[in-house]
Amino acid sequence: MATRIAASPKKTLVDHIRVLARPLNSVPSSITAAVPGQFAAFEEKHEPAPTGPSPPIDLSDPGRLFASVPTTRLIHSVANLHAAAVDPLVDLGIKVMTSRLVTGTGPARDIVIGAVKRTFYKHFCGGEDTVEAAETVRQLNEAGLRGMLDYAVEDAEDNPSCDQNLEAFLQTVASTKTLPQGCVSFVIVKITAICPISLLQRVADLLRWQKKNPEFHLPWKHYSYPILSDSTPVYHTPAEPEPLTPQEEANLLLAQERLRRIGKKCEEYNIPLCIDAEYTAVQPAIDYFTYSSAMEHNKHEPIIYGTLQAYLKDAKERLLLKSEAAQKMGILMGVKLVRGAYMTTEAKLAHSLGYESPIHNSLQETHDCFNNCASFMLEKIAGGSGAVVLATHNVESGQLAAMKARDMGMSSGNHRLEFAQLYGMADSFSFGLKNAGFRVSKYMPFGPVDQVMPYLLRRAEENRGLLSASTLDRQLMRKELWRRLRTAIL
Ligand SMILES: Cc1cc2nc3c(=O)[nH]c(=O)nc-3n(C[C@H](O)[C@H](O)[C@H](O)COP(=O)(O)OP(=O)(O)OC[C@H]3O[C@@H](n4cnc5c(N)ncnc54)[C@H](O)[C@@H]3O)c2cc1C
Repeated sequence: MATRIAASPKKTLVDHIRVLARPLNSVPSSITAAVPGQFAAFEEKHEPAPTGPSPPIDLSDPGRLFASVPTTRLIHSVANLHAAAVDPLVDLGIKVMTSRLVTGTGPARDIVIGAVKRTFYKHFCGGEDTVEAAETVRQLNEAGLRGMLDYAVEDAEDNPSCDQNLEAFLQTVASTKTLPQGCVSFVIVKITAICPISLLQRVADLLRWQKKNPEFHLPWKHYSYPILSDSTPVYHTPAEPEPLTPQEEANLLLAQERLRRIGKKCEEYNIPLCIDAEYTAVQPAIDYFTYSSAMEHNKHEPIIYGTLQAYLKDAKERLLLKSEAAQKMGILMGVKLVRGAYMTTEAKLAHSLGYESPIHNSLQETHDCFNNCASFMLEKIAGGSGAVVLATHNVESGQLAAMKARDMGMSSGNHRLEFAQLYGMADSFSFGLKNAGFRVSKYMPFGPVDQVMPYLLRRAEENRGLLSASTLDRQLMRKELWRRLRTAIL
């Protein structure tokens, strides 16, 4: 049997570290014993085993992978992904999207927005409002996938914009009722959209200072899971911060109330809420919000999911601390596991303050951390005390996790295990996972075109170059289009 953390409440942090240190490609001892040598081959190299049962995700047959995708959609996808891989085109697109042509007013703006809407926006976003987003989710569902609804707003500066965003989030939760049960897997919230960013920075500073000086008193702070670990960098806060002013405390209560309202509505509608992770300057405050909310809503089912970024050196340690605390409190732990998207920002900030980056020194260390954390969470699921969204486009990580899940008997639609990719990215991987019997979601931002522009710019950056994340998709889609053409002609 697998090591089941929940089944053994007396386990110490050291025991958990041992479990976490075990790579994703390792298997429960009884399985290893039953099929000796089968997994040893990739224990060190992190490669799929050359022998033994075939890997669960089969990407070799584009006809099967894209069976539910209409030809027009395939042509559109190939064209967009191909354009996004041509560097000069991406440079031009980024220039146009950040120019006054878009930020200003007038007919030129309408033309550019219209062009973006028909191309890039249509590929990466679910629509302008909840009605269009619901229609896109319906189409995803017909193809066997689910939708994570992300009303795409970026940082809010003040209470009125936070309130406006709150209404949009509540409307998003309500819109899930217009769809058949299960079509929407999660509603996504960014805490930076419901709490003024300057306040989040202040709260994060105060939490860091308290980590450095445990007797430093924070009158507004309620009991929460541990937010920072001993290895979490605290260089962002070099001197003792001023306490929150009465106005800031009042604003903090308002922001917590906003999250409480969203969480309550999600619980009422039985739709899990996933809170995105951002950069380390504000992440401790985001975790404080997330864990307080999880303590309130995750007693019977994991309604609130936080996000863990495996590219951070302290990721494993924080996962263990959090898991121990959740277990002690009898709370189910929901985690969205990602590699992390703010690498340049983090490295630049640390460097400017004379510290080393909080991100793993090599990409392989990030991969290992992601795979180990995924392994840990799969064992939590097996023990009945956790739930995970493995949010990745990395086929190897997916293959390893799928293999472990299959070996633990979890492959056929376990509702505590979800794989997720961004809408418009890694579609072949999503279909491969779905064909292997897993629950798979597309993280789908929606909102007015100009509001979604920062997200589109990030997608443009991520997909640029011939070796981008979309290369496999483009190859498989082109193959499938040729196959369909040949079938139509012959
Ligand atoms: C559904 C979903 C939700 C997401 N939500 C969030 C979120 O809330 N917060 C967030 O921050 N991100 C989020 N992301 C983005 C995610 O963090 C990654 O940026 C993105 O998915 C690429 O990672 P990957 O797992 O797909 O792996 P890959 O395709 O293998 O990408 C690996 C990339 O990791 C980077 N990298 C990480 N560590 C290192 C290192 N030490 N050295 C060099 N390069 C390194 C490199 O850019 C590399 O290209 C989300 C992604 C998905 C699919």
